[in-house]
Amino acid sequence: MKELEELILEKGKVLDGNILKVDSFLNQQIDISMMKKMGIEFANHFRDKNIDRILTVESSGIAPAVFAAEELNCKCVFARKQKSLTLDDNIFHSTVYSFTKQVMKEIIVSKDYLKENENVLLIDDFLANGQACKGMIALCNQAGANVSGIGIVIEKSFQDGRKLLKEEGYDVFSLAKIKEFKDGKVIFEED
Ligand code: 5GP
Repeated sequence: MKELEELILEKGKVLDGNILKVDSFLNQQIDISMMKKMGIEFANHFRDKNIDRILTVESSGIAPAVFAAEELNCKCVFARKQKSLTLDDNIFHSTVYSFTKQVMKEIIVSKDYLKENENVLLIDDFLANGQACKGMIALCNQAGANVSGIGIVIEKSFQDGRKLLKEEGYDVFSLAKIKEFKDGKVIFEED
């Protein structure tokens, strides 16, 4: 998505540890007009998959997920992140290693909001090593829901996430694919 790439070049900051900071439009302040366009892109790619629900993880996945859900006219739910295991019969839970915080976190979603046989589209802001997506897949498996696709705003293609998810057969669709960070600059994959 050319417009997103331009915004990343204009506003993104490359930090140590292969982290891209995009607080000004995605991770803190939300660029509504860009979100709307991203929602349309996700919807165009996944429209024929009869998506019942979008699942994301709080907090930065929520904005793109909401706009995609509006376009796909489907339900939208976010998994909550917690520090420790919650004992509750009415939740699905999974453990995820956080790339940016470098700690294990539990992610949970209520059994009321993820149902057997639903076609679920996973959406997240970044794809690095695929741990957040793996955690969401585990939640869907517990529910007996089908993972119908994975939509990512910014993929760092030099990390392992895409390979891992593709090997498991998932349709991974990313709006911007970063090939590398070179001298503090973002280099995108060629189309
Ligand atoms: P993964 O689970 O694929 O290893 O990492 C993806 C998750 O870590 C995303 O949910 C995102 O919040 C966070 N993340 C990974 N890489 C970056 C990055 O370069 N910048 C930001 N802002 N978040 C990232």
